[in-house]
Amino acid sequence: MRRQDATPNDLEPFWMPFSANRQFKASPRLLVAAQGMYYTSHDNRRILDGTAGLWCCNAGHGHPKIVEAIQTQAAQLDYAPTFQMGHPKAFELAGRLANTMAGDLNHVFFTNSGSESVDTALKIALAYHRARGEGTRTRLIGREKGYHGVGFGGISVGGLGNNRKQFGGLLTGVDHLPHFHNPEHNAFSRGLPEWGAHLADDLEKLVALHDASTIAAVIVEPMVGSAGVIMPPKGYLERLRTLCTKHGILLIFDEVITGFGRLGAPFAVDFFAVEPDLVTTAKGLNSGAVPMGAVFAQDKIYDAIVNAAPPGAIELFHGYTYSAHPLACAAALAALDVYQGEGLFQRAAELAPYWEDAVHALKGLPHVIDLRNLGLVAGIELAAIDGNPGARGYSAFVRAYEAGLLVRVTGDIIALSPPLIVEKDQIDTMFAILADIIRTLD
Ligand code: PMP
Repeated sequence: MRRQDATPNDLEPFWMPFSANRQFKASPRLLVAAQGMYYTSHDNRRILDGTAGLWCCNAGHGHPKIVEAIQTQAAQLDYAPTFQMGHPKAFELAGRLANTMAGDLNHVFFTNSGSESVDTALKIALAYHRARGEGTRTRLIGREKGYHGVGFGGISVGGLGNNRKQFGGLLTGVDHLPHFHNPEHNAFSRGLPEWGAHLADDLEKLVALHDASTIAAVIVEPMVGSAGVIMPPKGYLERLRTLCTKHGILLIFDEVITGFGRLGAPFAVDFFAVEPDLVTTAKGLNSGAVPMGAVFAQDKIYDAIVNAAPPGAIELFHGYTYSAHPLACAAALAALDVYQGEGLFQRAAELAPYWEDAVHALKGLPHVIDLRNLGLVAGIELAAIDGNPGARGYSAFVRAYEAGLLVRVTGDIIALSPPLIVEKDQIDTMFAILADIIRTLD
């Protein structure tokens, strides 16, 4: 039936993602404008953005260079297909990205989101082994608590029960490494925790169980984001790299959050000095301005799939109508200019010690059972209310918003990841608001 009564103020038709729709619609929070570090709410309040939107607006909001690039591009070339066709900015952007990325990760496949980047990377990994005559390598390995978006591939390798349990069987042939979230050993670590690198060795158990000849790839977030900001133990990623290489398994870093300066380096690849075979990105790629993702592949992967195929063959039967969308490319080129021109990755690195001190100053407040930080990311873990997990976190989120600060919560963990343009006094404001709220939480 057609809704006769739909008005701009009718909140019912929009089925909101990852939201408690009914709770939200009873008491909505709408953002109507944004500039720099601040959103404006529908009731005309300034909201300090503690999360760069959803970990994506790394250059801050409404950067004039990004706005102008999108406007100019929209007027010049709104859309162009990239199946058997191209447009110059797609190639220019891929080149810029390859130059920004370390090591052999020189080939870029464009998508429209982190979820699509993940599914693309998994498919490339499978196609790579097939192209080399190792088509038995089909198993995929993720990690408990991993978040890799919401495609069927992503939720299969992902390790968050809530994202899987409504949807049945998912991909077969998937295993998960153990997670390393362990406040008992690692609570209040500054930066990388000491305990847990040995958990990477569980890959040997999976190899013993299934045989390496059946395993295509391991995918991990170098720093766990959505499950509540959990830092990899010192040496963990190095160990995973060594084991993957030993067994011919591709290593995929899901850098949808860590890419583009979040840790104070261009990518986690740089920050940890560990080079995976494939890297998935999105979010900060164009500072969240237009949906876009990108998968970086090492030369050997491109060579095996593309250069080794017969001339004229379509080498990879995969892609999206909006792969390398001109508006997204223009926004990304402008965002890269801003990151570079304003030295934002370096800025994040310079601010990181100040940030770390601000995070750990919350130690001793009621309910705070762990504090974690890396680059410009923080996780504040609160004790759950008995029998009502998530309630304390949710009320912290709502109260922060009411007090003019946007944070993200996962269960009872508050996550912070401000735009990289954040100033020290804004960091002070964020933590002052949070300290007040935490002190008065039930
Ligand atoms: N991978 C990781 C590590 C993410 O954090 C996210 C989003 N938070 C995704 C994939 C999915 O990205 P998107 O929501 O753009 O599909």
